[in-house]
Amino acid sequence: MKYRGRLAPSPTGLLHLGHAQTFWIAWKRARAAGGSLILRNEDLDRARCRPEFVTAMLEDLRWLGLDWDEGPYAQSERLELYRAAFRKLKEGGFLYPCRCSRGDVLRALQAPHAADEEPIYPGTCRPSAGKPVVEGAPLNWRFRVPDGREITFLDGGFGKQTFVAGRDFGDFVVWRHDDAPSYQLAVVTDDAAMEITEVVRGADLLVSTARQCLLYEALGWKQPAFFHAPLVTNENGVRLAKRDDAWSIRARREQGMTPENVRAEFKPPPEPGRLFS
Ligand code: GLU
Repeated sequence: MKYRGRLAPSPTGLLHLGHAQTFWIAWKRARAAGGSLILRNEDLDRARCRPEFVTAMLEDLRWLGLDWDEGPYAQSERLELYRAAFRKLKEGGFLYPCRCSRGDVLRALQAPHAADEEPIYPGTCRPSAGKPVVEGAPLNWRFRVPDGREITFLDGGFGKQTFVAGRDFGDFVVWRHDDAPSYQLAVVTDDAAMEITEVVRGADLLVSTARQCLLYEALGWKQPAFFHAPLVTNENGVRLAKRDDAWSIRARREQGMTPENVRAEFKPPPEPGRLFS
């Protein structure tokens, strides 16, 4: 089967060194395999996405020396596809409606959690077996995870990964109360529809990949291979975020750095030479 990879930036800020490294790895792997690369603009977050960031991300990718064979496709133009996947999950009995806000979930947990990782849903709205589902707006639709089940996948960069449903992640939202798909549902639907054979993404998404394995299974779709790229951290050892403008590709470019200088800053691969050779 021919290799098909993708670059999937979100236009919610400027791309930083971590994105540069992930996209560089994705590009290298697609080119080394003689495959194609698809550019997908992940612009579903209406509150945070901005057109000027779309322009900036395309410019920065080109400046880094990356090219693509298809796209850009915009997720905001593909809503019907996600809606069809949502309906299939709902009809398959995998989902339940939930009225909890993020604040409710956090209060119910009363425990600190990693700021960017979805808190484990305490199951407040989870229907007990056989109990009829009461619908009403506004509500989120959650995927009910099989508690205790081990989800295993072989990662191309980090090797075998195992996560336990209900312990490492809980019931997650697939359709939001503002009538939009969640990241998990949109990305799985697109990767399947675009016939992506290998997903290259940052290691911050390892747990999300485990959630997505459950979605592939529930939807009856073939799972791609996964390759997670090491995370780039700032001077305090904290993973780069969109707000770290000083670490943006743009800032480096304005300082007169070349794409080669930027690549020299990438984190060493887990196995010498494996990722960048
Ligand atoms: N759009 C996501 C991001 O910019 C990446 C999603 C993915 O690779 O699955 O973080």
